Amino acid sequence: MPQTPTQTEYEAVIGLEIHVQLRTQSKLFCPDSTRFGDEPNVNTCPVCLGYPGALPVLNKKAVEYAVMLGLALNCEIAELSKFDRKHYFYPDLPKAYQISQYNMPVCTNGYMELSTGTRVRINRAHMEEDAGKLVHAGAEGLAGSDYSLVDLNRAGTPLLEIVSEPDIKSAAEAREYMTNMRNIVRYLGVCDGNMEEGSMRCDVNISVRPKGQTEFGTKTEIKNMNSTRAIEQAAEYEIARQVQILESGGSITQASRLWNEATSETMLMRVKEGEADYRYFPEPDLRPLHISREWIEALKRQLPELPEERRARYISELDFSTHDASILVDVKELGDFFDAARPHCPHYKTLVNWLTGEITAYLKTEKKSMADTRLTPNALAELVELQENNTISSTTAKKLLAELLEKGGSPAKIVEERDMAQISDVGELKKMVEDVIANNPKQAQQFRDGKEQVLGFFVGQIMRATQGSANPELVNQLLRELI
Ligand code: ADP
Ligand code: MG
Repeated sequence: MPQTPTQTEYEAVIGLEIHVQLRTQSKLFCPDSTRFGDEPNVNTCPVCLGYPGALPVLNKKAVEYAVMLGLALNCEIAELSKFDRKHYFYPDLPKAYQISQYNMPVCTNGYMELSTGTRVRINRAHMEEDAGKLVHAGAEGLAGSDYSLVDLNRAGTPLLEIVSEPDIKSAAEAREYMTNMRNIVRYLGVCDGNMEEGSMRCDVNISVRPKGQTEFGTKTEIKNMNSTRAIEQAAEYEIARQVQILESGGSITQASRLWNEATSETMLMRVKEGEADYRYFPEPDLRPLHISREWIEALKRQLPELPEERRARYISELDFSTHDASILVDVKELGDFFDAARPHCPHYKTLVNWLTGEITAYLKTEKKSMADTRLTPNALAELVELQENNTISSTTAKKLLAELLEKGGSPAKIVEERDMAQISDVGELKKMVEDVIANNPKQAQQFRDGKEQVLGFFVGQIMRATQGSANPELVNQLLRELI
């Protein structure tokens, strides 16, 4: 949507609600598996099917993951919290209520710092169970389908919903917030962070207001976002749409909207239900949740290095550019690979270049992750050192890397077995250079007469004779001395 020039300057106000699927083996209140992709309805039991009289039992691992994530987001962890029933009717929710946490969530008052200097406060993070999934037969969506099927494998999967304050000021900041969140859950290992598969889902709340106004404008909430890029695009679109409505004298309707990836537009989904409709009340089948100070402290001590700590380490200790640091922070496995190779590799800057350049490009074109390749951190470190100490040329290094990614192996061994080392032995090269000069007197004379470019001819002869393995600098130097 084209932005029309306006008299009033507007600013965006954005708050995100992110659902993180906690990667436990079993569900939040029953022992069924959370495995994705199984036959429909095999991972179910009376608890998640909502049979009367079945009693929920809280999964300790889910609490542990929720606390870890809360700690990483600088939250206060409640030593006493509780679960509540949130009522609504939908065919993917057999109990007709979702067990959630209403007014006593496990995590409160956290924050995340963005690179823009904005501190996004986190209001709360609460645990809740996921619903099942509807499969609409005979059509893309609900509209036009003949009938719908219910798969309750996902019903009861643990979620942590993280609610930010409306502190985000632009579409780009919204994207950064989500990217950082995804990095954090991956570093903690509490969620795989795959938005495309729905392991992380996000609602973006947006309003605009004239700059300088203190009250918030009416917000809309965009649902159905499946990538960080979509968040940025949808937010940009929605900000422009709202400004245009206000500029033309209209007003914003509070509503849920859907992001349509195909048309790059937001569309009206439904006007929001009020909170009273949920009829929240304490879940009588679960006791209040007590989390001891000792447990919280123990989990705090066990927290791994977090993305921002890694970024700081790369930039201030190892002198990475912010660009290189971002690649190795955002793609955790590349950073892990770097950290594993680094102790074996004094020339770590070259190591970074391989990882952010050649290797990243390879993973993109092949649609692979590092784990799909046969390259090991040791092998890459070895390759870098072979190149840095001039045992192999950079061309050979590139060829070898391609082979190591596909087939694995030790570069030092391969170089030895196939005689790929550059010839840097002065005696051996000197003999060759003398021979080429003697065999090509005409060209040698041309060089002596000042025709510099003839040097290329001689270098070419030597390279051909050695199949590219002569050290080119040394060849040049010897030619100039001996002609
Ligand atoms: P609701 O009652 O509609 O669920 P909440 O106050 O619970 O609204 O907030 C839900 C999310 O919307 C939070 O992430 C919050 O930061 C964000 N939010 C609240 N008001 C606004 C607003 N005026 N503009 C943008 N975002 C907002
Ligand atoms: Mg709310």
